[in-house]
Order: sequence, then structure tokens, then C-alpha cells
Amino acid sequence: MAEIVLEAVTKRFPDGSVAVKDVDLAIADGEFVILVGPSGCGKSTTLNMIAGLEDITEGTLRIDDRVVNDLAPKERDIAMVFQSYALYPHMSVRENMGFPLRLAKVDKATVDRKVEEAARVLDLTGFLDRKPAHLSGGQRQRVAMGRAIVRDPKAFLMDEPLSNLDAKLRVQMRTQISRLQRSLGTTTVYVTHDQVEAMTLGDRVVVMRQGVIQQVGTPTELYDMPRNLFVAGFIGSPAMNFVNASLSGGLLRTPLGDLPLDDRMRRALERRDAPREVILGLRPEAFEDASLARGTGGPVVTATVDVLESLGSDAYVYFGAEGGPATSAELEELATDSGRRDTGAAAQIVARLDAATRAREGAPVELRVDLGKAHVFDPSTGVNLT
Ligand code: ATP
Repeated sequence: MAEIVLEAVTKRFPDGSVAVKDVDLAIADGEFVILVGPSGCGKSTTLNMIAGLEDITEGTLRIDDRVVNDLAPKERDIAMVFQSYALYPHMSVRENMGFPLRLAKVDKATVDRKVEEAARVLDLTGFLDRKPAHLSGGQRQRVAMGRAIVRDPKAFLMDEPLSNLDAKLRVQMRTQISRLQRSLGTTTVYVTHDQVEAMTLGDRVVVMRQGVIQQVGTPTELYDMPRNLFVAGFIGSPAMNFVNASLSGGLLRTPLGDLPLDDRMRRALERRDAPREVILGLRPEAFEDASLARGTGGPVVTATVDVLESLGSDAYVYFGAEGGPATSAELEELATDSGRRDTGAAAQIVARLDAATRAREGAPVELRVDLGKAHVFDPSTGVNLT
């Protein structure tokens, strides 16, 4: 097992583009860390540098206190699982899984034992003599995992290992990977662009944007205390709602209505250097149906329901906010990233209400806003001021 430490790591490609900028990250022994962010943010490049598949331009990579910048991939004792699985089509499952061990000249009895052990863990025992072409996507994925496991490496590196699977299988495999990682206790770095995968799998999540780490934290920390607009908009589904707001006479004037500042917001916003024009961020669950009156207090705003979606457990209410969408570079980037079209760049607000809500499409509904869950951002820097 291994501790993996990146210190001021930068990757510059020969064409001059900088894919990863000054990344500091310490991954503890046994930890499951997820690198997440939109396409092109540098996740795979970071993983490839840890694997030794890409050179490090500047900075230091240590595995277990040893600088490994110049060590060949096979000397790093790390196993990589790719999106494509990279199975050999002419080999059986047994041969595919045993391949790295045979390459390392491990004796046949040990190879057989390790392959059979891994097959048991991965539920592949009945498939050991099949060729990859005769397996389902999920089974192939498990063979790729098995090939990594048999080596008993110091760490697993996984690059979008579930992205070729359909949605249902992805959820199943997610649970399986999570269980497997915990039972093996092997340090794992996992790349995905899917924030739901990131939030459900990892001990800690690293959010990247344009080669730069935006925030590192547990899923709960990222969700409850996003450091900036980008993290706030990227993490959470449906995404956080954003509206322009201005500070005036102890009130936050917003397209939803005027909201009084609570103590926490006052401390953040009544500093001399705080901006007067801000972006207010409210997660869907920061609203509740005021008529159900379970609330913790907070101002009530009135909205006309455009669309009501009942999910049984709760209900999503969509309504428009006058004044248009909040604008900032981060929000534009989130809106154009294909995976995240439902961000606050639209002027539509979504509230998650109790399933018992009496809200009806086309009718007004009174919503209580929990200001304790509100975030206020500086539109020019994106920084969360609250
Ligand atoms: P995706 O989710 O699309 O795989 P990513 O976050 O993994 O994206 P990387 O593959 O790490 O992103 O790429 C980061 C940036 O580096 C991108 O802008 C990409 O175009 C660029 N890049 C990657 N490989 C090279 C290369 N060999 N030469 C030049 N630029 C590259």
C-alpha cells in the first residue's frame, strides 16, 4: 500500500499548453481519492503522471516517501484500470487476469491461485474460460479490475472505468468498486467527469478546472462548503441555483424578492471590501413549501410554478426568476460543459419540496428560504464569501 504525494506538479505539453498547473495533493495510504472536473481539466494527465505514462514537467511525485519522477511505470508497482479495459481478445478471462503475473515470471500455481481468488471476489468464477467477446460490458469491466487486483499493487489508478457501461450497470459497479476498495484497503485514485460518481465513491474528492485544483474535501465538505462558484455549480444534482443579487440597506435584493441578511451573511457582506453586487447561490433544498410549516424560519418568497415533478419521495418545483441568469466566467463554463447543462446559467430556479406540497403548475406557491443554507459569491473572483 502507498501514500502518494504530488508537490507543485505541472505538466506542459510540447506545444506549450499547460494541462496541469502547480498541483499539490497528498493521498494517504489506503485512501480512495476521486479526481473530478469537466472535460479537459487535466484529470487524466494527473493520473498518467502518477502512473508514469506522462513525464512530469515541474514538481515532485513521491510514492511512499520516494521520489519517483523518473521511475518507469512498471517500477512503480501501480495497477491501472482504463475506460477501454484493454483486454486481450485472444486470451481467456483466466489468461487475461493472470497476464501481469506471468509477465513478472510468477510460478503457475501462484498465478492460478491468485486468479481464482480474484475471480471469486469479482463473481467471475464461472467465466474464467471465456474470451472477452463472450462477456457482457460489466463482466469485461470486472476482468479489467481482476487483472489489477491479482498483482496486489501498492495503488490502483482508474480512468473513467465505468463510462462504457449503461446507467444501471454503472450504479451496480460503483457499489462493487467501493466495496472492493474498502475490503482491499488499497490506495486508489479514480478519475471521472461524473460528479455523482465522485460524491458516492470517494473518501475525498478533488475538483479540477483548467489544470488547477479548485478544492479538495470530503463529499460533504464540497457540498456544504464549496469554496467558489465553480465547485458550487459542479457538485450537486440538480445544481445549485444562482441569481444576481445586490446588497442594499441590510437587505439582499434578488429576483426572488428582498431577503434580510442573517448574522452569517452580515459578517461576510458588511465588510468594507466586500462587493455590493454578488451572486446568491441556493441549493434546491434551501427552499421549502411555507404552507407545510416545518421550517426553521427564514423569509418567504412567492413564485409561480412553471413545472412540477413529483418523484414520490419529494417534488421538484421549477419557476422563473426575473432579472435573468447570474453571469460569471465559471458559470458559463459549467453551462457549456456537456455534462452540466442544468446549472444556474438558466434563469430557471428549482426547489426541492416535500412530496406533500400543494404546489400546482401555473399557480403561485409560497416558499420559505433557509438562509442558513445560502451562499454568496463574488462575481468577479467566484469566491464564496459566506
Ligand atoms: P477528459 O475528461 O476529456 O478525458 P481530462 O480532464 O482528463 O479530460 P486531460 O486529458 O488531462 O483532461 O487533458 C488536459 C488538457 O491537456 C486538455 O486541454 C488537453 O487538450 C491537453 N492535452 C492532453 N494531451 C495532450 C498532448 N499530448 N498534447 C497537447 N495537449 C494535450
